[in-house]
Amino acid sequence: MAVAEKTLAGLQRIVGAENVLTAPEDLIPYSFDGTAGLQQMPGSIVFAKTTEQVAGVLRQANESKTAIVTRGSGTGLSGGSLPSPDCIVLCTVRMDRILELDRANLTLLVEPGVTTLHVADAAAAAGLFYPPDPGSMKISTIGGNVAENSGGLRGLKYGVTRNYVMGMEVVLPSGELLWTGNKCVKDVAGYSLKDLFIGSEGTLGVITKVLLRLIPKPAAKKTMVATFAQMDQAAEAVSAIIAAQIIPCTLEFLDRLTIHCVEDYAQIGLPLDCEALLLMETDGHPVVVGEEAAQMEKICRDHGCLEVRVAKDDTEAGKLASARRSAFSALARVAPTTILEDATVPRSELAKMIRFVEAVAKKYSLKIGTFGHMGDGNLHPTFLTDERNKEEMHRVEEAFKEIFAEAIRFGGTITGEHGVGLAKKSFLPAFAGDAQMRVMRQLRRALDPNGILNPGKMFD
Ligand SMILES: Cc1cc2nc3c(=O)[nH]c(=O)nc-3n(C[C@H](O)[C@H](O)[C@H](O)COP(=O)(O)OP(=O)(O)OC[C@H]3O[C@@H](n4cnc5c(N)ncnc54)[C@H](O)[C@@H]3O)c2cc1C
Repeated sequence: MAVAEKTLAGLQRIVGAENVLTAPEDLIPYSFDGTAGLQQMPGSIVFAKTTEQVAGVLRQANESKTAIVTRGSGTGLSGGSLPSPDCIVLCTVRMDRILELDRANLTLLVEPGVTTLHVADAAAAAGLFYPPDPGSMKISTIGGNVAENSGGLRGLKYGVTRNYVMGMEVVLPSGELLWTGNKCVKDVAGYSLKDLFIGSEGTLGVITKVLLRLIPKPAAKKTMVATFAQMDQAAEAVSAIIAAQIIPCTLEFLDRLTIHCVEDYAQIGLPLDCEALLLMETDGHPVVVGEEAAQMEKICRDHGCLEVRVAKDDTEAGKLASARRSAFSALARVAPTTILEDATVPRSELAKMIRFVEAVAKKYSLKIGTFGHMGDGNLHPTFLTDERNKEEMHRVEEAFKEIFAEAIRFGGTITGEHGVGLAKKSFLPAFAGDAQMRVMRQLRRALDPNGILNPGKMFD
């Protein structure tokens, strides 16, 4: 059953007929996101341009009790923007204006469809810095980043999206507008509702404006790469760097399989005779940057690294950093289906977790390339598989279960940045426990009594 005729006519009145798609060939590109193995045709696609249009669409959907799945660029890796059957996909990519740069308060007000890169560029053009840099930043939207509380390569020093959201405008399922947060550095009036909407994965409201915090641009940066014969040495070097009270802006790693795939793909000139590669970046005052880089180099050598390569200039730094940025794309070329996970553990448990992932790969005879944010304890074990091979997919599922259970056992989490969505909802109760699940359900029911927003995501 498609979206009811009456509802469609109402949607066309609100956004204009040209902004409502229903032809199957138009719906197909919106029937999946970045998550492997998930596809579902929606009933229609609606492009909104203004907050008023979003409010109108939500009112219409609420009255007819039609499911709404809000969508940014669809790069999500947990099936968050996967349509539910016959739903309305509300696409925000055309709400793409930068509304205000406030130099006095160091804030940027944007619409949700602005890409993360556009936000970073707008900040840089004003001599400022917007640190969150998900690997997808060229195409992901800021609305999607806020809804997933996305992280990035600079999370260790600068934090994640949440740390840069000062306020937002949200449309509730009833069509009512809500502003939460403001330009004040301090504000403790009432519950922090903005924190509730951050990471809510499109289940509580539609974000229509975001007020972002910008910071001064670091004066200098140094980028280097160290290679190790054993993954344990790399993990121990990371622990030693943190223990030396150095907080680099980037501390990322690639395992052997990922290094080889990246080199095949991008021909960066990476050393191939190693088990692990660390990408390290420090930024800030030039003197501090120089000292920290020298200390990190020494720590890596003390932990038996094979080689440390320090970028001579910005071009080489960009090239080295691209080794990590292209990891997912490089792995994705190797097998028909790539499933990227983001189990996360306290940093102290990282080496054990990496060894566990290796053991699971062996146990289930699976190909897993692992890379990730080593400084954050955020791993991306990436399964290189083929969704048409049912028997292998069964082994993949069993491997997932073991990896998530172990992450929880280590005091970690089932997702460090990609969200729960559809892909991980079966693992949430074991992680969150009964009381948290109950409170989350009550909150959702209070905000969306008809259950129209992203039904079936995160939990039923
Ligand atoms: C190659 C690649 C690299 C990636 N690297 C990273 C990374 O380093 N770090 C990281 O955290 N993630 C990463 N991701 C995952 C993904 O890019 C992020 O989750 C991103 O924030 C999603 O943005 P999007 O615009 O594509 O949102 P979508 O995928 O369209 O939506 C994601 C979720 O947000 C909701 N949503 C979207 N817009 C709104 C809105 N305006 N209001 C309310 N809800 C909304 C949707 O309903 C859905 O639940 C990567 C993905 C890919 C494909």
